[in-house]
Amino acid sequence: MRIAIAGGGLGGLTLARILHRHGVGAVVYEREASRSARSQGGMLDLHPESGQQALADAGLTDRFRSEARPEGEEHRILDPAGRTLVHHKPQPGSFSGRPEIDRSVLRDLLLDSLPGDTVAWQHRLVAATPRPGGGFGLTFDGGHSADCDVLIGADGARSLVRSLLTDARLSYVATLVELSISDADQRHPDLAELVGPGNLWCIGVNQILAAQRLGDGRIRVGISVRAKDRDIDTYRSKRALLDLFDGWDPSLTALIEAGDSAPTPRRIEAMPIGTRWANRPGITLLGDAAHLMPPVGEGANQAMLDAAELAAELATNTADPDSAIRTYEEAMFTRIQPIAEMSARVQAMMLSPTAADDIVRFFTPRPTEPAPAPTA
Ligand SMILES: Cc1cc2nc3c(=O)[nH]c(=O)nc-3n(C[C@H](O)[C@H](O)[C@H](O)COP(=O)(O)OP(=O)(O)OC[C@H]3O[C@@H](n4cnc5c(N)ncnc54)[C@H](O)[C@@H]3O)c2cc1C
Repeated sequence: MRIAIAGGGLGGLTLARILHRHGVGAVVYEREASRSARSQGGMLDLHPESGQQALADAGLTDRFRSEARPEGEEHRILDPAGRTLVHHKPQPGSFSGRPEIDRSVLRDLLLDSLPGDTVAWQHRLVAATPRPGGGFGLTFDGGHSADCDVLIGADGARSLVRSLLTDARLSYVATLVELSISDADQRHPDLAELVGPGNLWCIGVNQILAAQRLGDGRIRVGISVRAKDRDIDTYRSKRALLDLFDGWDPSLTALIEAGDSAPTPRRIEAMPIGTRWANRPGITLLGDAAHLMPPVGEGANQAMLDAAELAAELATNTADPDSAIRTYEEAMFTRIQPIAEMSARVQAMMLSPTAADDIVRFFTPRPTEPAPAPTA
């Protein structure tokens, strides 16, 4: 069984790793030229029942614990005047909640756990064509080609493989504008203290100014505004952002002024809730390709759990991969539906006129349940 995984993100790499542990080979085709070709973004908190479970199935719990930053769970929610509404401090050194890890560190950890030839870098899939006897012929940018018996689309938000299974369209749910502040402790100690070791969210009316501490000493700043409030290009200057946050406490807007370079806006998109497709032999999707959701702390966790569940099915059913895929898809559709509904609700709540009250209520931990974490 030749398994091709399109996309070497967190989902695709977790799948390859767990298959490898079961003695099942797979090739990961990744469009980027190398592991360091692109910055991987901010921190993720891995949930015990999903992301951490997948890492346990991958045999990587010890590595995760040596790289994770449980102190990154600390978070504060402020109002535009800089008053603290919520301040959550985790137990020092505890891994019982949702420890944070830099996305690039997590990706490296997965890459290091794979045989050197598993990832074919610089292989952007541009077409997948069904072969008469089953499986797919794959064509890559630049003219390379390959065949496979099973094709797994782990190729993210704008998945090419998705179009072979569903015509679901993405909707534009928010705009996220990002800035980065390097060497914060030395250059901006006030901001380093404001943000702390984890996350900071400053909640206004229909807009959020957020910041998070990364393991390499940077602060990543993310401004979330409603989709289509303005043309996305109007967020490309610090001046425009400062105007947007006019009247906010200067200690907060200093996060914008301190950005190393011009802000980068991006569209945040989501697939329709409840997207399913009719099972088709030899092909399936996982992660954002299968269920792109607003970024409220579940996407990577669910992508990794998809990978773990699909790997387990394929490994126990090597003689009948189509049955393995059917079983995986049914369970995945059922699991994702309520999570996608919750993610849409939280996203709408975060960018509403009453967001501060709603978020404080939502994120105040109940005694038995750690609070989910907004990420944008
Ligand atoms: C701002 C932001 C913050 C987030 N924060 C969190 C969080 O805190 N917690 C959380 O759980 N989730 C979070 N998410 C969601 C999370 O990032 C995604 O859900 C997760 O990365 C999905 O993993 P994936 O493997 O499916 O896709 P990706 O990680 O996007 O990986 C897809 C890979 O496929 C490659 N690729 C794409 N097209 C092709 C092609 N044609 N051929 C070959 N390769 C291709 C890409 O280069 C990439 O490496 C956040 C998302 C955003 C936008």
